[in-house]
Amino acid sequence: MTGRTLPPIEVLPRDLSRWEKGNTGTPFVHRFDSGVDGPCTMVVGLTHGNEFCGAEALHWALSEGLRPARGSLIVAFSNVAAYRSFDRERPLDSRFLDRDMNRVWRDDWLANEKTREADRARELLPFVLSADFLLDIHSTSFAVRPFYVGAMNARARDLAARVGFPKSLLLADGGFDGRTLIEHGEFSDPAGRRTALVVECGAHFLRSSVEVAKATLLDFLTVTGTIDADWAGARRPVVPDAEPGTFEITEVYVAKTDELSFAAPFVGFEEVEEGALIARDGPTEIRAPYPRCTILFPKAQPMKGREFVTLARRVD
Ligand SMILES: [Zn+2]
Repeated sequence: MTGRTLPPIEVLPRDLSRWEKGNTGTPFVHRFDSGVDGPCTMVVGLTHGNEFCGAEALHWALSEGLRPARGSLIVAFSNVAAYRSFDRERPLDSRFLDRDMNRVWRDDWLANEKTREADRARELLPFVLSADFLLDIHSTSFAVRPFYVGAMNARARDLAARVGFPKSLLLADGGFDGRTLIEHGEFSDPAGRRTALVVECGAHFLRSSVEVAKATLLDFLTVTGTIDADWAGARRPVVPDAEPGTFEITEVYVAKTDELSFAAPFVGFEEVEEGALIARDGPTEIRAPYPRCTILFPKAQPMKGREFVTLARRVD
């Protein structure tokens, strides 16, 4: 432990059972067809069970009568089992049950792995494979600006720019074991046609992150042509955004020991000078390897063998 405090828990898991049956035969997955030509757009919440903003935004949008005006729309609550395991005494533990759901999208793991997350991924896979556009809604441990994150080929960056909110991009080219949902198959193929984005909406348990998730959801669905701008505009919350910025992740540091501490109470997006001490991992000092080094995702409950801190270079 680092002695730092997490943001307050303003939002708690809700009873999502009204969405469990769905209309697809797969629990917590809804599919609506407009009967009009257009893309198949998929929106996903709860890839991580403790990231409530996606569930809140999808629950809200479905309750508002969200339906596609063109093409089809798939709404999926992903790891509901992990969400239901939430314990406010250990609020980060419900991220997943057996395996990070956002690492399991490797074809060999999808084929063979016997975890509850792989089981759920296999249920979701046919829907993922049918999506022309996919938005996966996440949140972060600390209250930082909202941003899109991923390897973000030119197609993904173009879509993020067209959606226009949020305006910060984190370019993260792997650096961990496994594959994320938005890296699956054609999404990560530069020559492909299907496009997926991850949005990080702010801190896990804040009402403000829910508002960011709602705004991003509506903007994404509008720009992909799935819903009408009038319907979205009547409902879209007004939320602040940071100045535009693009950050390239250079290192995802995995803790090697249990003796983990940060040099300051970092929350993310702090820029430090080359050589500045960032953290300690047992006898190892983690220092900024280049100028204008940006600190991302400092873990509130760092653990040996898990991602501890991420470093990024500001590129524009
Ligand atoms: Zn997440």
